[in-house]
Amino acid sequence: MSEIYTSKKSILHYLHRKPCESLTIEDRQILSQCRILTDKYYQNQVFLRGIIEFSSFCSQDCLYCGLRAANTNLPRYRLSLEDILSTVQRIYSDGLRSVVLQSGEDLFYTTSLIAHVCAEILDRYPDIAITLSIGERNSPAYRKLRKSGATRFLIKHETANPILYKQIHPTQELLSRLRQQQLIKQSGFMLGSGFLVGLPHQTIEDIYDELLFLYQNQFDMWGIGVFIPSQGTPFENYPNGDPNLAKLAMVCSRLFDPQTMIPITTAYHSLMGDADTIQSLHDVANVFMINYTPDSVKNLYHIYNNKQSLTLEKTCQLIEKAGKIPTYTKGEPSRVNNKKPTTSYWYRRTNECR
Ligand code: SF4
Repeated sequence: MSEIYTSKKSILHYLHRKPCESLTIEDRQILSQCRILTDKYYQNQVFLRGIIEFSSFCSQDCLYCGLRAANTNLPRYRLSLEDILSTVQRIYSDGLRSVVLQSGEDLFYTTSLIAHVCAEILDRYPDIAITLSIGERNSPAYRKLRKSGATRFLIKHETANPILYKQIHPTQELLSRLRQQQLIKQSGFMLGSGFLVGLPHQTIEDIYDELLFLYQNQFDMWGIGVFIPSQGTPFENYPNGDPNLAKLAMVCSRLFDPQTMIPITTAYHSLMGDADTIQSLHDVANVFMINYTPDSVKNLYHIYNNKQSLTLEKTCQLIEKAGKIPTYTKGEPSRVNNKKPTTSYWYRRTNECR
């Protein structure tokens, strides 16, 4: 890649631009290169995933999240095996072949139980890909889950800045999260991660460092969310993150790692609305997750205020308006990650901080 697309100065300049500012020649080059790379590696496909939020219980206390254990005002739920299987059946009937099982960190669902759920799903629907988004476990657990047939794991760190991480995750350690990510990769999973734009006290330089961290660790999916405050949390009175900055970060993501999967996050669509989401699908994103959590409990998965979810029909309309094709297959990343995890600059640096 040309220097312009990778130099820290160019990227920082791009991240600083405001939506009202006219594009410079360099900005245009960056956006144009992003579109070229998205088309090169994913043509006009946008992969659909069906997500099931199967438990809203969580033992952690992340300051930004409505599911935090200390939020005792939130009613909690757990789906039974039968509920999960009937939801997968809906996803499968709709034609999707990729399912995401997501929960808070809830050890009620033991590793054996989740492995059983995965095995049952694959017994009925062998052509489905299962992604787990269940928080941290341990090395034997990851191996067992991989053996059960799940092939993908999603575990975000939300920030790779060790000071910010500690501020927003009082019950967790950044080093532990990075170690878990390595163990998950070593267990044979494809691995998605990501960060939040607009966390209190975060700077544009932090955003650049987040992109660098994702690049150095070769994640198969880069999820760039936008902070939206959640009632009942210590951050409930902070302002929303800037979704325009998230869009700029998504564009830079494609330049950092052209083959990674980049989803439209729910928070991004909630803040940006349809028109900007369509533009982002046109420019850079190639994954859309559709929420299939049963209506009876959907609103209880309250990670932030006014979380919206789109139907399959509406999602497909947005994708088609972007000139792309809704793609129902498993949707592998262009580069299936089978490399050894790298020891990143940030990993070394956080080690040095201890
Ligand atoms: S972000 Fe995840 S781990 Fe943290 S409180 Fe929310 S659900 Fe739990």
